[in-house]
Amino acid sequence: QKQDDYQLLGNIARYYQHNLKHHSDSKSVIDYLKGRGLSGEIVKKFGVGYAPDSWDGVMGQFGQSQPLSAQLVELGMAIQGDKNRPYDRFRGRVMFPITDKRGRVIGFGGRVLSDGTPKYLNSPETRIYHKGQELYGLYEAKKYAKDLQRLVVVEGYMDVVALAQHDIPYAVASLGTSTTVEQLQTLFRTVKEVVCCYDGDRAGRDAAWRAMENALPLIRDGFSLKFVFLPDGEDPDTLVRQQGKDAFETIIDNAKPLSQFIFEHLLSSLDTNSAEGKAALIGKFEPYLEKMPDSVLKDSMITDLANKFGLGSEQQLHKLTRTKSKTS
Ligand code: ATP
Ligand code: MN
Ligand code: MN
Ligand code: MN
Repeated sequence: QKQDDYQLLGNIARYYQHNLKHHSDSKSVIDYLKGRGLSGEIVKKFGVGYAPDSWDGVMGQFGQSQPLSAQLVELGMAIQGDKNRPYDRFRGRVMFPITDKRGRVIGFGGRVLSDGTPKYLNSPETRIYHKGQELYGLYEAKKYAKDLQRLVVVEGYMDVVALAQHDIPYAVASLGTSTTVEQLQTLFRTVKEVVCCYDGDRAGRDAAWRAMENALPLIRDGFSLKFVFLPDGEDPDTLVRQQGKDAFETIIDNAKPLSQFIFEHLLSSLDTNSAEGKAALIGKFEPYLEKMPDSVLKDSMITDLANKFGLGSEQQLHKLTRTKSKTS
């Protein structure tokens, strides 16, 4: 007989946690986590565990009957090869359970202990795990952060856990290349201020721009999206370990507002001293302004644009963006 999906994954998470303490590899895994600055307490709070380096770990424990082994395949925990019995997807990895907003385990991310590839392996899409809709650490943030006012969005599991380790329990990870519209909706349903803090590399900067584009339609009065750009080669985990809680929170406090991000980014590619450059500027801003609902932020961006660059009258700009958004 099949089991309830959530119950089965919950049991597997407990099995991984048990292995972290009691498997014969236990010492090296715990050393790895300690080496990354994590305490036993934080490891427990996030339910971090260990998948033994075996083809038949989860399968051996949970996949004894045919229906159960089929269910493990459906839930992404085992892989059906060409003929034989399915085998474990996650082997020899540190396991991070991914929970839904009610705290039920819906999938896992697993990291290799050294420098094997892929560095991270994640559950595939299943009937209960939809990658673009979940945020790693959201359940924990709601549970452990007192008076949750803002959320910091980071790229990775380790970033979330390392920040929590340093008493910054309000980070979540988007679990993919970019933060989706659904994830941003969830974030703004939970708090009014969201700060994106991706890795200080090309991928991180691109992810920030895409998150901005996805968020534009969602930013109403009273809500804000901000951006932190970390030094090249750093991520939230390395930075908080080097500099500590206060320094990191200062960086978050001084995050760049969305309007400034857009202005700087769009201006960097234009010569706004020439008439041509100014003309092109309106065209560059238009698509972004069109996506924004009417708000104080939008109005002030339009005013700024008009004032700073003498782009005709403000009224004209308003008209331009309004008529466009109605006809498109
Ligand atoms: P660590 O600090 O453990 O080395 P990281 O989180 O800094 O890892 P990044 O390379 O910055 O690793 O990747 C950020 C996130 O992107 C990861 O946490 C993971 O969710 C995802 N990711 C990275 N590499 C892969 C991969 N090969 N397959 C799937 N997801 C990945
Ligand atoms: Mn990166
Ligand atoms: Mn990283
Ligand atoms: Mn990292």
